[in-house]
Amino acid sequence: MKNSIDNKIGWNFDNTYVGLSEKILTKIKPVTVKEPKLLILNKSLAENLGLNFSGINKDELASIFSGNELPKNSNCIAQAYAGHQFGHFTTLGDGRAVVLGEHITKENKRFDIQFKGSGRTPYSRNGDGRAALGPMLREYIISEAINSLGIPTTRSLAVVSTGEIVLRETPLRGAILTRVASSHIRVGTFQYVALTGDEKAFKSLLNYTVDRHYPEIKNSNNIALELLKIVIKKQCDLVTNWMRVGFIHGVMNTDNMAISGESIDYGPCAFMDNYDLNTVFSSIDRNGRYAYGNQPIITKWNLARFAETLLPYIDKNKDEAIKITTDTINEFDSIYEKKWNNMMKAKLGLIEKKDGDKKIILDLLNWMENNKADYTNTFLYLLEDDFKNNKIYEKEAFIKWYKKWRNRINNESLLLMKKSNPSLIPRNHIVENVLKMAEQNDLKPLNELLKLVKKPYEKHTNIDDYQKADKNSNKYQTFCGT
Ligand code: AMP
Ligand code: MG
Repeated sequence: MKNSIDNKIGWNFDNTYVGLSEKILTKIKPVTVKEPKLLILNKSLAENLGLNFSGINKDELASIFSGNELPKNSNCIAQAYAGHQFGHFTTLGDGRAVVLGEHITKENKRFDIQFKGSGRTPYSRNGDGRAALGPMLREYIISEAINSLGIPTTRSLAVVSTGEIVLRETPLRGAILTRVASSHIRVGTFQYVALTGDEKAFKSLLNYTVDRHYPEIKNSNNIALELLKIVIKKQCDLVTNWMRVGFIHGVMNTDNMAISGESIDYGPCAFMDNYDLNTVFSSIDRNGRYAYGNQPIITKWNLARFAETLLPYIDKNKDEAIKITTDTINEFDSIYEKKWNNMMKAKLGLIEKKDGDKKIILDLLNWMENNKADYTNTFLYLLEDDFKNNKIYEKEAFIKWYKKWRNRINNESLLLMKKSNPSLIPRNHIVENVLKMAEQNDLKPLNELLKLVKKPYEKHTNIDDYQKADKNSNKYQTFCGT
């Protein structure tokens, strides 16, 4: 029975990470849960992965996605890693997650399948190893939105409620998310192995990462340096994309930065409403370390922590290694600046290079900041040339800017703008409401929101409520995803 279900689903596990040093992982199974219930299953992602869950009954699906019943050939592990959390170094690890293994698709793509909220592990510290329903559904919504916005990210395959209570400030319903990632190797994974001082383990992690993610540099004579360069580029792309859509990750610790360049770990993240570089939603980010406008510089800081782990493998001579690595890290600024400029030019439809473009961009952003203009909607209004009778766009300063910009764009501009400017983002108050309803077993609002955020570049009708910021949006607070 079990075997036939596994064959029907199409799991195809090939677990290579488990073959790395035992120092960086622990073999451990998810802790079974009392009464799992499947709440949401991502059919289109399942299809992309070549997995077929149709015709499998509800109870069976709940068993599968809670880890009560494990797929054949899975080989569960919790991964060890370290990380700078708000600037402070500490050792960590999957405290409430297990990787079941690597599923290989028909296209020969390799994905980690992970349960988040699956019980205690040796890395749990004081945590209970569990996750609450709200934050797991939140990760589902936001990761699907980020993916649909065309931004590299881990994905969410399913959420089950566990039938158990988790104690936070109040008792909450427990849940498990099935996360799909091109890997869970983080900057923090490298930091952890570097800390052990085990050169052999470090080299095998380095080679493994290159083989898995960047085989094109495999034969280079300095793979550590080449890996650093690629990861700088990937992370520059990622943060530029976050800046494009006004996404604030909220907890950019080095353990939450994936070497693959995917967005990972959706905790206190949220989308910005009115444009303000200082926007912070996370209640624990009291000094604004991870504010919207700080994300690029924090990316660079995290990359420098990654580079530190690679130093001995970049050059045997320490001074030489530091020089090469510092120069490489400092290239971040010009790479980012160029990417950010191109991104903003695309948002405004500025094709070709012309003098004064930078000024057009900065003048608009300044105006938006001074007038508390909504970030997403301002670009959408420009794209649609319809300002919805919103009075702030009738101000003289804006009209002056608008005329200059209109003279600079052409028909092709609109095509470019359409690809860069979403018609909607998951607005904070909508997400909160959807989660509240889901807590009460009404999943309809959640599914309606998902349908919309999966098509962020399409023109939708009658979705004003989804497009508007809440009047209290600047008071919005998020809490760590526990
Ligand atoms: P995060 O802020 O989600 O990146 O988590 C930071 C670290 O705390 C990670 O190592 C998590 O595995 C761990 N952690 C978070 N929540 C829990 C929990 N409820 N039980 C055990 N470990 C946790
Ligand atoms: Mg994390």
